[in-house]
Amino acid sequence: MAEKRRIVTGDRQVQESSYENQLRPQTLNEYIGQEKAKEKLQVTIAAAKQRGEALDHLLFYGPPGLGKTTLAGIIAHEMGVNFRVTSGPAIEKPGEMAAILNSLQTGDILFVDEIHRLARQVEEVLYPAMEDYAIDILIGKGATSRSIRLNLPHFTLIGATTRAGMLTAPLRDRFGVLQRMEFYTQAELKQILLRSAKVLDVVLDDQAAAELAARSRGTPRLANRLLKRARDFAQVRYDGDVTLEAAQAALSLLDVDEKGLDSTDRRLLSTMMTVFGGSPVGLETLAASLGEDSGTIEDVYEPYLLKEGYLSRTPRGRIPTRKAYEHLHIPMPADES
Ligand code: ADP
Repeated sequence: MAEKRRIVTGDRQVQESSYENQLRPQTLNEYIGQEKAKEKLQVTIAAAKQRGEALDHLLFYGPPGLGKTTLAGIIAHEMGVNFRVTSGPAIEKPGEMAAILNSLQTGDILFVDEIHRLARQVEEVLYPAMEDYAIDILIGKGATSRSIRLNLPHFTLIGATTRAGMLTAPLRDRFGVLQRMEFYTQAELKQILLRSAKVLDVVLDDQAAAELAARSRGTPRLANRLLKRARDFAQVRYDGDVTLEAAQAALSLLDVDEKGLDSTDRRLLSTMMTVFGGSPVGLETLAASLGEDSGTIEDVYEPYLLKEGYLSRTPRGRIPTRKAYEHLHIPMPADES
């Protein structure tokens, strides 16, 4: 169960990071999909380069695994600057943030993943840093203490978050560009999978690629993860090539259904139908009933179910749609139809 859940949550895991890094595209041309974001960034990058200035601060938001970190790394590569990576929960004290900022060079990109989880005092260090390229440092103690301003090189902050709504207004307002990341189409995911297979030097046939793409919940991280499992399967049970048969065998073992929904997705929908009878249910109530964290439901599970029309949100809570009842073969209550 834990294994299955991990496959679909889209969360990054330590043991997978070298596999992920291996598959990370390095240039904007290799980065598939997100056409709107790419077009906007191409212009922003070209303009900053022409003016010889650091890029505006950028915020990428959207569900995990859609390529926020990858895109930030590509921007650093395209700008020809250093890429420094940290995350909201990793920085505990204002002094640590000040030290990171102070170590940057002109033009460098500082990527802060899960930026909505920065401690308030740490976040406050970022305000003057982002706006005036400066940090205020308190010297001395008590009555004799005073604050001095330290200038910083012009750098670019790229923040990533699964929840733009949880960012404080002062932080959000300091980003020049706010970019929402979209789920990928099946055609884009197929292209990503074929590229990944090439990088991994494994044969992935066209039908198998289409099948894996269809079951990846619109998310490249999941697509690559399914490919990894299918590759293992192909190696152990078949002749090493990822054929449709090998892909399907791996997928059925992972309990991902033909629409790409996993057991937690289905449990979430069926709980809404059976426990709550299809009536609107609040996030916290649903989370408690499933024994899941409400944040995980909101960030990881819901966005795809909403986008694909299995769930809808009403002012009184979430309800499963007709499509969800049909998918799970559960009769829809008469008064809902
Ligand atoms: P996020 O930061 O949004 O959680 P990542 O940037 O870490 O997501 O992407 C997860 C994985 O998916 C990476 O291994 C990366 O190779 C792959 N990936 C993401 N977006 C793309 C893309 N547009 N094209 C190709 N591969 C991608």
